[in-house]
Order: sequence, then structure tokens, then C-alpha cells
Amino acid sequence: MSSVIEIAAHVAGVSLQPQQTELEAAAAEAAKAEAAARPRVIGPHACHAVGCRTVVPPEQLMCRPHWTSLPQGIRKRVLMSYTPGQCKDSHRIKPTWIAAARQAIEFVLQAELPKLATRLKLPAGYDGSQVQIERVGASTVAIKQEGLPLLVGSLATGEVREVKRPEPVSESDPGDAQPEPVPA
Ligand SMILES: [Zn+2]
Repeated sequence: MSSVIEIAAHVAGVSLQPQQTELEAAAAEAAKAEAAARPRVIGPHACHAVGCRTVVPPEQLMCRPHWTSLPQGIRKRVLMSYTPGQCKDSHRIKPTWIAAARQAIEFVLQAELPKLATRLKLPAGYDGSQVQIERVGASTVAIKQEGLPLLVGSLATGEVREVKRPEPVSESDPGDAQPEPVPA
């Protein structure tokens, strides 16, 4: 026999298990956030250092020269958080490994920034010794030179492209852009 509350809830058309749905939604959100936090693998088993394409065994984060350039503490964090078989099953990757791997990638990137910057293919008119380079993403830089269009470059590939200025959004036809004559 149903309880009075259950009958009332049925009549009112409400669910008596709001907590469960909230939990389910929270779990789904957490899973989504976790999936987004996983680093994307660029090519199969290449060294994870930005701009390095050396092929390494899947269980190695970086090629030997890059790995040995890391401080002992970072290397230890990566090794300690590694789960055997995580390369084949990304669900086994621990958040601590992601954090350690990111720290390692960032360390190498900081150390190699000047070298990577010289590999950027600047268009004619730009002078590598005059441009200002500013990081705007994991491996993306903004390149500025006085009086010239802003460029965006990839430290990973060395590719550089001009930033397209956003088109002005206007729903009215161009004729309407002229100010209406003010009636006297
Ligand atoms: Zn490498």
C-alpha cells in the first residue's frame, strides 16, 4: 500500500527522488570535466614535449634527451603516478599523472621557449629580433610587431598565421549604417 506522501506526490506529478537525480547529474558533470582534463595524444606515442616528434615507446612520456632534462622531482612524480596499461585504456590514467605530465611538458616548454620561438616561420616584413612574443595557450603564442598585423604562432609546428579581425556583426543592411538625418 502506498503512503500518503507517495500518493500526494503521484497526484502532484513530482518525483520523490530528487537527490538521486541531482547526484546522477553531478556524477555526469564530474565525468565530463575529467574527460576534458585528459591530455590529447598527438600522434601515436610521440614524445610529449612541445615541438618534438621523436617516436617513443607508449609507456614513455618523453624521448630520452627531454626526459633527462627534467628535474629529478618531476620525473619521480610522473613515474609514481603512472598506471601500467594506461596507454591502452585511458580510463586508468590517474589525475595525478595528468598533473605530473603537464608539469613535465611545461618545464621543457619553458626551457626551450627561445629555441622554439626562432623556429616560427615569420611572414615577410616581420623581424624576429623585433617581434614581441607572448604565450596565449599551451603551445600557442601571440606575435606582435609595431605597425603590423597581429600573428598567432604554434610552438609545436612553427606555423604562423595572421589573426583575422572579427567581422563586425550587423543584421541590418549596409544602407542602414548611415545615421538617419535628424528632422529639423
Ligand atoms: Zn622529445
